[in-house]
Amino acid sequence: MDKKHRRILFSTAYWIIGLFLIFGLPQLWLHIQTRQISYAEFKSMVRQGRVLEVRMSQNEVKGLMFSGPAKDLPAVREHLIQIKRKLSGGEIWGVSGTQTPSLQDLLNKLRATATQKNDIVLFAAVRVKDPKLVEDLDAHGVDYSGVKESMFGQFLWGTLLPIVFWVGLWFLLLKGMGRPGAGLLSIGKSKAKIAMEKDTGVSFEDVAGCDEAKDELEEVVEFMKRPQRYEKLGAKIPKGVLLLGPPGTGKTLLARALAGEAKVSFYSISGSEFVEMFVGVGAARVRDLFTQAKKNAPCIIFIDEIDAIGKFRGGVTPGGHEEREQTLNQLLVEMDGFEPNIGVIILAATNRPEVLDPALLRPGRFDRQVVLDAPDVQGREAILQVHGRNKPLAEDVDLKQIAMRTPGFSGADLANVMNEAALLAAREGMDRITQSILEDAVDKVLTGPERKSRRLGDRERRRVAYHEAGHALVAHESPDAPPVAKISIIPRGRAALGYTLQLPVEEQYLMTKTEILDKICVSLGGRCAEKLIFGEVSSGAQNDLEMATEMAKSMVCRFGMSDDVGPMALTRETSSFLKLQGMEQQKEPMSPELSAKVDKEISRILNEQETRATQILEKNRHHLERVAEKLLADEVMSAEEFNKIINGNGGN
Ligand code: ADP
Ligand code: MG
Ligand code: ZN
Repeated sequence: MDKKHRRILFSTAYWIIGLFLIFGLPQLWLHIQTRQISYAEFKSMVRQGRVLEVRMSQNEVKGLMFSGPAKDLPAVREHLIQIKRKLSGGEIWGVSGTQTPSLQDLLNKLRATATQKNDIVLFAAVRVKDPKLVEDLDAHGVDYSGVKESMFGQFLWGTLLPIVFWVGLWFLLLKGMGRPGAGLLSIGKSKAKIAMEKDTGVSFEDVAGCDEAKDELEEVVEFMKRPQRYEKLGAKIPKGVLLLGPPGTGKTLLARALAGEAKVSFYSISGSEFVEMFVGVGAARVRDLFTQAKKNAPCIIFIDEIDAIGKFRGGVTPGGHEEREQTLNQLLVEMDGFEPNIGVIILAATNRPEVLDPALLRPGRFDRQVVLDAPDVQGREAILQVHGRNKPLAEDVDLKQIAMRTPGFSGADLANVMNEAALLAAREGMDRITQSILEDAVDKVLTGPERKSRRLGDRERRRVAYHEAGHALVAHESPDAPPVAKISIIPRGRAALGYTLQLPVEEQYLMTKTEILDKICVSLGGRCAEKLIFGEVSSGAQNDLEMATEMAKSMVCRFGMSDDVGPMALTRETSSFLKLQGMEQQKEPMSPELSAKVDKEISRILNEQETRATQILEKNRHHLERVAEKLLADEVMSAEEFNKIINGNGGN
């Protein structure tokens, strides 16, 4: 439906409703209230003295009457006289020039004061020729007056003003319909809800640790600001930029920063909003969106979480997706359709690029892809600095060290750490954030809050202490495992009943075979310690076991680290940083012989490492016991304390 039709339809509906409201409703209301009686009935009521007030017009008598018990009549009449006296300002009716009160008025006032309110009735009767009417009325003391039809005042208040108001509103709404992105009625219109931000208040300075991505986007800012420079050289400005990366790495933040830097209009919409707004109402809306954008060029359209619309077309999901497909198709067509250099750039973000339709990714659409990965140690330090900017940090704070402690943290995690630290400091009543507070905050973000309420019994606490001490000792004795940084047996939210934290000396991107073997050995260390001390293992080692098995499997199937199986990748990975939880990695078809061999290799690796861990613990049993006892006493142990015990100068 085009604009003109929509307006006409709107106006018609508007006026039908309006005329009814102005004329129909008051009439209807009066009609419902009025009791229609015959003229004879009216006369008989007059004779019984039940008629209180009468208004006569050319063809109708209207009035108030009392239908209750006769004994109440005098009281009601008295009320009416009081009311009229009040209305005329104490004067006798009519003398002071006050206007005749309407029946409706009198009725309302009577009902408000008299006790017999439900017996006071508004009536109407069709007039017949009756010369004696006035005489009769006089005889029974009924106050009467004639009514000139449609008095000016009534007309003004009851009709003219509502009409004027209604016309005014109509103009306003109609004007609003024409203006994009404004007006009350633009709800159904696509462009309406897409929020336009002139200034997002975020700049590139607020984004840290992803310099390559920032460089790419800075170039985009340049395009928008000085397109001629690029046009001169015959370069095409990219139409679409796709930001990829795991959750919390700052994709949304970066997009907002880009808008802040480019100082152009920034239309932001999330994929799910897009679906809500466009899918099911037709692809025309998408066209609208682009028409708008072109009119407002230069501008940036940002579609966050684009995977909601850009999912692979066809394929697995059966039925019900046709609409979404059409919307996606329209998006593709639009992206192809506009000229490259008109100054509209589409920015999109997703953390699931593997589900995106390949058509979206081909050149000419989202041909720039900017990957945001989890930050490295320098990046983490920079992000911590950004988020520590307006927080009071104590002298002893060493953000570099915190960055070292947080491998694998995303920008959002780090922002969370700084915030948790501020909260913790406030809770402790301190006015600065100290290093130890920051470390506590890291622990909290890493493993959830301490669960003070979960008190373990003595036997279980002993078991946990030995289990963790076992991990720590094996880690210490394995040359290629990262050193122990902290041991704790305080139960924590997500994590188990205790944990041993190992931290690499420097950022690592690769793992050698020995390092993986050491890691398996350390995972099994807790279990082995339990077996050694208590004679049997417990269910607490389940997680360790899963991790060890997973690593052994990866060694054999993905990294080709088993001599028996040889250099063969038996599992195919889709993308390195986006393993979907609960999604099986795709398996290569495997012959039964090969499969048996793989199983044998995995169990060989695990058994070997278990034996090795047990040997280490047996050899260092006195250390194991000392670490565990100290843990039972203190609950947490730092790296220094641990090393002191191991190196023999902690106690004797
Ligand atoms: P996503 O990639 O999931 O869209 P967001 O951009 O929403 O992540 O990031 C969430 C929050 O994490 C941001 O508001 C910001 O506070 C913080 N953050 C993430 N990455 C960075 C970064 N590189 N620099 C500074 N803060 C960051
Ligand atoms: Mg986001
Ligand atoms: Zn464990």
